[in-house]
Amino acid sequence: MTHRLTVIGTGYLGATHAACMADLGFEVLGLDVDERRIERLAAGDLPFYEPGLETVLKRNLENGRLRFTTSYEEVAEFGDVHFVCVGTPQKAGEYAADLTYVDEAVGTLAPLLHRSCLVVGKSTVPVGTAARLAERINRLAPADGDAVLAWNPEFLREGFAVQDTMRPDRIVVGVPGDGGAADRAEKILREVYAPMLAAGTPFIVADYPTSELVKVSANAFLATKISFINAMAEVCEAAGADVTKLSEALSHDDRIGGRFLGPGLGFGGGCLPKDIRAFMARAGELGADQALTFLREVDEINIRRRIRMVDLARLLLGGSFIGRTVGVLGAAFKPESDDVRDSPALDVAATIRGQGGKVTVYDPKAMGNARRAQPTLDFGESALDAARDAHVVLLLTEWAEFRDMDPHALAEVVAERNIVDGRNALDPDRWRAAGWNYRALGRPHPG
Ligand code: NAD
Repeated sequence: MTHRLTVIGTGYLGATHAACMADLGFEVLGLDVDERRIERLAAGDLPFYEPGLETVLKRNLENGRLRFTTSYEEVAEFGDVHFVCVGTPQKAGEYAADLTYVDEAVGTLAPLLHRSCLVVGKSTVPVGTAARLAERINRLAPADGDAVLAWNPEFLREGFAVQDTMRPDRIVVGVPGDGGAADRAEKILREVYAPMLAAGTPFIVADYPTSELVKVSANAFLATKISFINAMAEVCEAAGADVTKLSEALSHDDRIGGRFLGPGLGFGGGCLPKDIRAFMARAGELGADQALTFLREVDEINIRRRIRMVDLARLLLGGSFIGRTVGVLGAAFKPESDDVRDSPALDVAATIRGQGGKVTVYDPKAMGNARRAQPTLDFGESALDAARDAHVVLLLTEWAEFRDMDPHALAEVVAERNIVDGRNALDPDRWRAAGWNYRALGRPHPG
């Protein structure tokens, strides 16, 4: 049986999900409260950078399977399965997640559900949210309808969003306690994800709280791995050891593995930092805060890397940024993304600006978002432009174009040949041979 799908909230997650589901052959209707975003998506103009996604979007607009709207009435009438993909940011001044958007989306949709349908939460939420929303849907949905809620957390990575959606590592589905409703939810989601299941993707059916916890515990584990190697970088700096060699040697141990073991400026973005904080806040509410106290350390190690980066740059300039020019390469929180939410690169740039430095930033894709987020920074047109007259250059996001930079060409434009490699992305020997004072986080400095 073919289902008609809707996607509520068309940001990084929702726009990807809508376009990819249409590519699988479903009729899909995407909805957002942001009218400008909907206009752009409907015109085939992706409002953010994600490799390969615009092609999928355009293809499915052209074949008529994908449409966009701002009308909840239209969505409720159209959809057999409604995917909720709205944002769950960190609350201002608190660790907890802000569930306003999820509550609004479900609160608007539920009273309009006059027919049998499945509502599927994909947003990352604190454990207990699905049960609360299911109860709310029961209370708000009209008597002539029959709506069931499932939770289906999303694990896609920005930069690889299309391939992660089309070929996920696993699909996790949280279903209600009631047997009939649970069977119906599972059956429908097996039909929706049939191509993935046919390709052998593990399909894990759980209760609501377990499915919610799978997502946040995965992010907690990844954040811990990154902060673990960055804690080792701190020790390496104190001991004169090289954390990149340490990491390489650890990575050959199958029990450890090399992924998420790259030392550097640490993690950022719209997910890991806010998800581990929301996880701690929720554990506290549940009386299980002791279980997650280590995540506070994970968060602090991560933030200390940014401070260390600023300190190292200041040290290279003789102790002050005042009257000094700093070239910053990178603004996105990671390569292959234009996302600057909680970006370590922009955070470092803004801190140095706050300490009196003249900072010029360049990023291959995130310039628009970076300008909006940090309007007091200067922005260059290219890496060379950002580095012009700099007393120190900082590599803060490891885009391939920065990895491949010619140290001789960069040397031509700077005031002083100081570079701090915040991502351990450059070959120190090559840069030193070109006359640069190369410094990196967690690596020894000759002389
Ligand atoms: P985003 O900010 O890019 O997009 C959220 C969208 O929801 C926005 O377009 C916003 O206008 C819309 N929205 C807000 N309220 C709405 C409402 N009431 N009705 C309809 N639309 C509404 O966020 P995102 O990065 O796509 O993240 C969405 C969720 O997915 C979050 O919970 C996030 O943690 C989770 N997630 C994100 C990723 C990722 O890589 N970005 C990966 C996995 C999970």
